[in-house]
Amino acid sequence: MAGIEVTQLHKRYPDGTVAVEEVDLSIGDGELFVMLGPSGCGKTTTLRAMAGLERQTSGDIRIGSTLVNDLPPAERDIAMVFQFYALYPHLKTRDNLAFPLRAEGLPEKEVRERVAEASRMMQLDPLLDRRPHRLSGGEQQRVALARALVRRPQAFLMDEPLTNLDAELRADTRTEIKHLQAELGTTMVYVTHDQVEAMSLGHRIAILNKGRVEQVGTPLEVYDRPASLFCASFIGSPPMNLIDVEVAEGALRGAGGLVLPPPPGLPRDRTLVAGVRPEALEVTAAGTDGTVAARVVSAEALGDEIIYVLDHGGVRDVRVRMPPTVRFAPDAPVGLRHAGGTPPVYDVSTEELVA
Ligand code: ATP
Repeated sequence: MAGIEVTQLHKRYPDGTVAVEEVDLSIGDGELFVMLGPSGCGKTTTLRAMAGLERQTSGDIRIGSTLVNDLPPAERDIAMVFQFYALYPHLKTRDNLAFPLRAEGLPEKEVRERVAEASRMMQLDPLLDRRPHRLSGGEQQRVALARALVRRPQAFLMDEPLTNLDAELRADTRTEIKHLQAELGTTMVYVTHDQVEAMSLGHRIAILNKGRVEQVGTPLEVYDRPASLFCASFIGSPPMNLIDVEVAEGALRGAGGLVLPPPPGLPRDRTLVAGVRPEALEVTAAGTDGTVAARVVSAEALGDEIIYVLDHGGVRDVRVRMPPTVRFAPDAPVGLRHAGGTPPVYDVSTEELVA
């Protein structure tokens, strides 16, 4: 097994599109590392460069201690799983699993042992004699995952492998992948544009935007202190409220009059925005001490919680997460206050975290 080091990776396609710029990643041995970002941010290009399916314009990739820049995919000892599972349609599950091992020339006894082990891990035993057209989408994807497992590679590279599954199956398969990775301890790089998937799977997450890495951190680190306005607006559902703030006599005051606890080290003479999570705010009865006057624009009852959208003091559409027992009707006058934690603060011109 091995970690993966990406240094100053740059990829410019022949048509001039710059897909990846100055990407540095240091992925630990045995880590489940997620690359997260919107469509077109360069995730797939970075992963394909690791796999050797795309040649980078410049920069280095190391798998373990080996510089793999000039190695073809087959010599990198990695296994990839894609969004489209590409099973051989004429082969039964057991032969689809055995295929990469037979291609390597492994003795048939070992092929059988490894297929049996991967089949057990992905719960494919009842499906071993079926061809792909008789498998559901989820089953086909499990076969594709098992086919990556049998190779016992140094690392797994996964590109949105669950995209084609329905919501429930996606959640189940996600759990399976997580357990499997923990059991095998094999380094895994997992690409997704789904922040829930990233948060639930990753030991660490790299957030990419426009070909650059904007933040690398544990799920809690990126949730609590997004490194840029982009990260702040990308992580969380609903995302952080970005509220214009001023620093006055050591206090942090939002444009609508909301008082927030100031983080240490606030810069002066800059235009600042505070990132306030919906659960860090509270809706109360109108006129409650320590609140600013607000109005309910809408309330989304989700069963286990209600997301209120409020206007206050000229600030529109502030989202607040409340327990389902707290009920206010649309248009009701209410109070709004900060409920906990110190918000991260961003410089509007650089879009970076400053305190
Ligand atoms: P998605 O989630 O949509 O797959 P992504 O984050 O994986 O997006 P990439 O597929 O890496 O993004 O693409 C990054 C950028 O490079 C995009 O602007 C894309 O249009 C461009 N790109 C990708 N492949 C090529 C290619 N073969 N030739 C030219 N441009 C390309």
